[in-house]
Amino acid sequence: MWERLQKCDTKSLMKKYVTKDVVEQYKTTITENGRILADLIVSGVECPHSHMGIYLTDPTAYEVFKELFDKVITEYHRVPKVCHPDFNFRDPADKVVAFENLDPDGKMIISTRARTGRNLLGHSFPPITNLEERKEIESKAKNALLSLEGELKGTYYSMENMSEEDQTKMRQDHFLFRNDNPCQRSAGYYLDWPIGRGIFVNENKTFLSWVNEGDHMRIISMQKGGDLAAVFNRLAKGVKLLSEKLQFYHHKDLGFLTNCPSNLGTALRAGVHIRLPNLEKAGTLKDWCDKLKLQPRGVDGEHTESKEGIYDISNKRRLGLTEYEAMMEMKLGVEELMKQEKALAE
Ligand code: ADP
Ligand code: MG
Repeated sequence: MWERLQKCDTKSLMKKYVTKDVVEQYKTTITENGRILADLIVSGVECPHSHMGIYLTDPTAYEVFKELFDKVITEYHRVPKVCHPDFNFRDPADKVVAFENLDPDGKMIISTRARTGRNLLGHSFPPITNLEERKEIESKAKNALLSLEGELKGTYYSMENMSEEDQTKMRQDHFLFRNDNPCQRSAGYYLDWPIGRGIFVNENKTFLSWVNEGDHMRIISMQKGGDLAAVFNRLAKGVKLLSEKLQFYHHKDLGFLTNCPSNLGTALRAGVHIRLPNLEKAGTLKDWCDKLKLQPRGVDGEHTESKEGIYDISNKRRLGLTEYEAMMEMKLGVEELMKQEKALAE
């Protein structure tokens, strides 16, 4: 693996920090589930375009490879040290979440989405989960989701029973996850596909949950337009209700434990699909995003291309700040991007 890593031309954080000394340091280290350093980085070695290149194969991986993860995590989340505040969807004054509509005229923002990730206590992480356990996780998640009522009440669709047509339609509508990402494939995300996978959708198609994708559960709130408050409040409500029914992995310094270190902390990625043709043309979008702690993605998700100048712009940092602060970072950043885009359009 060391030789393959040397040959691998990648800008990933894994390559930066998995040095010869680190390999030496961890050469006899194994996690509770019997994983070694090579297992954590195999996807990063096989997929040079991976940004992180290292996954927490199981919940104990962080403690076991702490010194390595500390470097990766502090750089990605831009924090001086690895620590995380208490879970908090409210502003510091503990008032109701107050976010306005970022684009009341509906000229630039097409849709808004916020998601978080959770993993069920007592189970290994999806890439190393076995078939029986995957089904058990699905059953627990499904029961909790089906108990939701009112606006959140919905239906669970098992991937095993969904037709190809229905899956394609759900992907085109940006609801359903895919199974064609090479980084995820080599990390083991698609083992035993589609068994144990599924999606919960409420009646209005504004509250969703993915089951057994990269994390046991992704909890998602989304709708057309730029109404951040509606999206965020619905997510907060769903997370609160599900947390009353399920127990999730949580670590005092890392927040909610997730498979990918980029999601640790709040696991919150809140963003908009927004038209930014002028920033695209000017070639300055990436630099602006970097400066504003935002992440641009293509319209079909991570590692996809933008179409017609439309980008998925979301908060990049998820650890070291509360849910409220992560959302605020996205809001302020998107407002600035809109200002820049409008200035270029004049
Ligand atoms: P995640 O961080 O949830 O894993 P991905 O980048 O894998 O996100 O994208 C998952 C899906 O969510 C894709 O279909 C993507 O197009 C969709 N998506 C992301 N942001 C938005 C948004 N603001 N509006 C509509 N769909 C979105
Ligand atoms: Mg994803």
